[in-house]
Amino acid sequence: MISQVAAGVYSYLPLAWRVLKKIENIIRDEMNKAGGQELMMPVLQPLELWQESGRDQAFGKTLFTLLDRRERKLALGPTHEEVITQLVNHNVQSYRDLPLLLYQVQTKFRDEPRPRGGLVRVREFTMKDLYSFDTDEAGLDVSYNKMLQAYRNVYDRCDLPTTLVEADSGAIGGKDSHEFMVIAESGENEILYCSGCQYSSNAEKAQSAKGTVEGGGPLPVEEVATPGKYSIEQVSDFLKVPRNQTLKAVFYLADGELIFVVIRGDLDVNEVKLKNALHCFELRMATEDEVIEAGIVAGFASPVGIKGIRVVADDSVNSGTNFVAGGNKPDTHLRNVNYPRDFKAEIIDDIALARVGEGCPRCGVKLSSTHGIEVGHVFKLGTFLSEKLGALFIDPGGAPHPIVMGCYGIGLGRLLAAAIEQNHDDKGIIWPLPIAPYHIYLCPLYLEGAKVAEVAEDLYNQLEAAGLEVLFDDRDESPGVKFNDADLLGIPIRVTISPRTLEKDSVEVKWRSEKEPQLVPLDSIVTHLKELVTRGVRTS
Ligand SMILES: [Zn+2]
Repeated sequence: MISQVAAGVYSYLPLAWRVLKKIENIIRDEMNKAGGQELMMPVLQPLELWQESGRDQAFGKTLFTLLDRRERKLALGPTHEEVITQLVNHNVQSYRDLPLLLYQVQTKFRDEPRPRGGLVRVREFTMKDLYSFDTDEAGLDVSYNKMLQAYRNVYDRCDLPTTLVEADSGAIGGKDSHEFMVIAESGENEILYCSGCQYSSNAEKAQSAKGTVEGGGPLPVEEVATPGKYSIEQVSDFLKVPRNQTLKAVFYLADGELIFVVIRGDLDVNEVKLKNALHCFELRMATEDEVIEAGIVAGFASPVGIKGIRVVADDSVNSGTNFVAGGNKPDTHLRNVNYPRDFKAEIIDDIALARVGEGCPRCGVKLSSTHGIEVGHVFKLGTFLSEKLGALFIDPGGAPHPIVMGCYGIGLGRLLAAAIEQNHDDKGIIWPLPIAPYHIYLCPLYLEGAKVAEVAEDLYNQLEAAGLEVLFDDRDESPGVKFNDADLLGIPIRVTISPRTLEKDSVEVKWRSEKEPQLVPLDSIVTHLKELVTRGVRTS
């Protein structure tokens, strides 16, 4: 199917290429039906455009950059919002030019830190990316819903069940964002979902009900000696208070600045949420040395009385009273710490990691977890890019406004990989018929019997003439070898011709997904197969 050239860089061999072309045609058809117009933008993009939008920093090292012979900086497009926004800026003047849906099927480049999973996380890949342009939010909602439906149609036609989940918009930016996930144990994304309602979210973005902790009326702060008790576990055991009655201090470096994060002791920080709350580009946990260097008493740090460092609090600090927190002195903690009476936070937001078994943020039922492969990602970008790049339209009264944008991507290779993840057994692939490289695996056995070869050759020509796609295994190999290869390649329908089937003027038809073959008379086999394939490959 594929052959690796470098880390995250692959050649697609003939079978995979046929699958990719089928996926591409289905996508193109659905984009056109939704009103999309196809165009083609370049891979080479001036880095200035990315600097103008500010997204060169958001993409960071993921952006492949290079210098041309005149020392001008260029980027290899990881996505095309900048180029298309500039294009629309040059070509759209009036509200009468909108709405507009433009798309392409183009190669993208992303310097992923950890290419993995074959085609799932690669550095060069083909993506369909559509961009919507509207006059207002209501228009964006219409375009967004149109695309959600078009995407559902695409997966449906590929016979690939997907789940729509809420997603983080990451480096792309914008506010609302959803992913289409193929549920697979091997998937790199954790999904939290609620069986009580429709809530379903990428774990990066998921929320959970944090509940309230009954701590009584606020009491005066008091110091308590906690010799050698550094961790939340040690402190809560030693003082005999539940973990959710404590506050934990965690330190991060955000674009090089040390940040003090406060969160309830039973919760953990979700770094994606924290990064979004801080609007920073790079975030990592601070080392113990970095914390000590900043003059902080590691293990006993407290937001109470801390100076010269930005404090970010999870909104769980509001979920109770009289918490135990650090004392900012060795071997000391404080009881009865209350927010905002005893400390201030520059940012207070939901920055907690939601976990299985916690309550659904909408209905309270316990959240469940599964894994998935993301096969589509849609974003409501809003106006931040059109504002930065000056893409405006004039309303009926003559006033200029930024164009409201959305963007919608499907990675073709990843869809192929996800289809295999979802459709295989221990013998090999079981292709869904609509995207299978071939419909039929034509498998003549015992070719030395002249009649078998002759009938097979004749049937091959008839099936091709009927518009069916046939992989003709005319090798002189044993039945075992041929059947194993047929199972491995996963072509949906296997047609076997042998001296035994010909005694009954028949051939054997077997679905890759089923165990038992069926004998079909030779004189009706072409009609029979044509019917099976037509039924399996819907065109709308
Ligand atoms: Zn729910």
